[in-house]
Amino acid sequence: MTINHTRRKLLIFGIGLSLTAPRLYAAQKAVRITMTSDASQIHLALPAADKRCRVFMLSAPERVVIDMPLTSFPPELEHALTVVRQKFSWVIEGRIAHFSPEVARIVLQVNSKPKITRNTENGVLTVTISAESHAAAIGPVVSPAPQAEKPLLVMIDPGHGGKDPGAIGNEGTYEKHVVLHIAKRLQTLLSQQHGIHAVLTRQDDVFIPLYHRVSLAHQHAADLFISIHADGFTNDLVSGASVFALSEHGAGSAMARYLSQSENSVDVLYDDDFKTDDQYLKETLFDLDQHETIHRSLDFGRHLAANISKVHHMHSPHPEQAGFAVLKSPRIPSVLVETSFITNKQEEKLLGEPVFQEKMAHALAEGINSYFINEKKNNLLS
Ligand SMILES: [Zn+2]
Repeated sequence: MTINHTRRKLLIFGIGLSLTAPRLYAAQKAVRITMTSDASQIHLALPAADKRCRVFMLSAPERVVIDMPLTSFPPELEHALTVVRQKFSWVIEGRIAHFSPEVARIVLQVNSKPKITRNTENGVLTVTISAESHAAAIGPVVSPAPQAEKPLLVMIDPGHGGKDPGAIGNEGTYEKHVVLHIAKRLQTLLSQQHGIHAVLTRQDDVFIPLYHRVSLAHQHAADLFISIHADGFTNDLVSGASVFALSEHGAGSAMARYLSQSENSVDVLYDDDFKTDDQYLKETLFDLDQHETIHRSLDFGRHLAANISKVHHMHSPHPEQAGFAVLKSPRIPSVLVETSFITNKQEEKLLGEPVFQEKMAHALAEGINSYFINEKKNNLLS
């Protein structure tokens, strides 16, 4: 094993354990409360020794209740719930609220009594929740098929949100709103495809720091990550769509540099805790050997660009590269799509039109499909 491999393995292991360690729990360092998921199960990690941790069922309607010792309201868990709700058809609703000043409570409403297992190791209580049958976890399946392929999970990330409006057009169109529309249309289109499951990092107008978006994709085992934007530029004549993958060596063009710098500044501008956050954690996450993932991201980007160019003109016909923080996933092919420039008069108008949003979503869905088909072919050949 090379040093590089060892390093990578250690870092990934570190992410699995501590990526979710939210700053909100900084006051109670020993408590690492996380909600993650794999293809068919939801996992919760709770402090085993704390008697305030409780997991139980309520019926009519069926609910799983999880109590945990948290005095502050953790947005990380709220974001995880957003993903879990979309990912599992057997989870009808998921909420988090304070049960008492010292206890936060998650309530998952489920369509039938789920299977709950508990395991305590090294002071961590792991609670695993799954639908009674595997079939219920992934939707309608004709017969139980334990070796059936798991659905491919696409994490769609509508850029900006909440206090971060993104770019604003001259007519007052907000990037954060138009990209959410396109993202939701894309989710609907992908969810109609057999074997593909699509979830959004945000379903509403909420702020999520960039590195949380990256960690959400990892915590819920995404196969692809696509961040959707419609940024602005200082010159309002500039127009067209572009697709970006991560760069290990700086931006490939002045435009790529401008856009990535402007995108990456949102955490500094809007995330109140950014400066006090665990810098080591972020550096660990962003310091991984990205080579192979970037290669696959560029391939994914080519499939997207080929399809976008059928419905809209391209600012750059080929995927570009820049150091976008939101693309720094160690293993998940990730791209950022600039659908148009909101500062361009014609494109601002287009971005607000449902017909254009649908066309763009269609092109992205086609690109995702064609990437998956090609990957499958390559896997069969290799
Ligand atoms: Zn943006």
